[in-house]
Amino acid sequence: MKACLLRAPARIETDPLEFTEVPAPKPGKGELLVRVSACGVCRTDLHVIEGELPPRKSPVIPGHQVVGIVEKQGENASRFAIGARIGIAWLHRTDGVCEYCRSGAENLCDNPTFTGYSVDGGYAEFLVAPEDFVYAIPEGFAEEQAAPLLCAGIIGFRSLRLSGIKPGGRLGFYGFGAAAHVAIQVARHWNVEVYASTRDARHQKLALDLGAAWAGGTLEEPPKKLDAAIVFAPAGEIVPAALQALKKGGMLVLGGIHMSPIPSFRYDLLYQERMIRSVANNTRQDGEDFLRIAAEIPVRTRVQIFPLAEANRALNALKNDAIPGAAVLRVRD
Ligand SMILES: [Zn+2]
Ligand SMILES: [Zn+2]
Repeated sequence: MKACLLRAPARIETDPLEFTEVPAPKPGKGELLVRVSACGVCRTDLHVIEGELPPRKSPVIPGHQVVGIVEKQGENASRFAIGARIGIAWLHRTDGVCEYCRSGAENLCDNPTFTGYSVDGGYAEFLVAPEDFVYAIPEGFAEEQAAPLLCAGIIGFRSLRLSGIKPGGRLGFYGFGAAAHVAIQVARHWNVEVYASTRDARHQKLALDLGAAWAGGTLEEPPKKLDAAIVFAPAGEIVPAALQALKKGGMLVLGGIHMSPIPSFRYDLLYQERMIRSVANNTRQDGEDFLRIAAEIPVRTRVQIFPLAEANRALNALKNDAIPGAAVLRVRD
């Protein structure tokens, strides 16, 4: 099969993904072989490729926002029929037995594996995944439109939940890429006022088009104090600015898997019971809940489509803030 292979982490400017031919995987017990239709491009892929996350498998095929068709069932796999349209996300598998799994926090599992990081992902014509960790894709979404729902969408949704934002509340977004452009649609559906701080003018415009009450520069202070804010951009220097924008008792959620160091800041930015919380992965319940609400609203993703062979170009564009919405690789025509 054709796939984009990362042999060793390197800066994306050096085009480290090799578009090549590799053997197709075989489904094991309880697993599905999936023929990939489309795979979303996520900032986490960039962190994997550039080595900001320590390598877990090498070489590896990145990609964890996969929409595809069940091609073959492994032994004992019967949850989805051959030909069913399914989605595969970042959480590939958990151990199911650690204290976190047993307490409903499988996103924090002690022994997880991740799609496109510790196992091969969706920058390929086929991949395998445990049937218990894949999702049915609601009707009404084209393959390419559905792909960004599987990480940008689900993680944005978990970030919204952890922010504790209530209907009528004011919520800040720092960075306005793939996750924020989906999360704002859910927030607006909940009647939340959104304030978008992002450095790129195109992203500010997209935020306003999607119903933001205000859009400005990354470190610009929003015109009103916020009940909560979510930092999607991987830049630690945003944290003090975002705290500055919060009301007393406000919640700051850090939505990324990696962030540059957070500079020291005055205690009074945090005092008055402001809180900072990170988001790690998601539970399957988050995924199911989000996909249901995404279909209800319905969420509309803005995607820029690249052929699989041009994954390096898509990732370079993502790094340079040149994608309004989400980048998606079209794997099968
Ligand atoms: Zn576990
Ligand atoms: Zn992701």
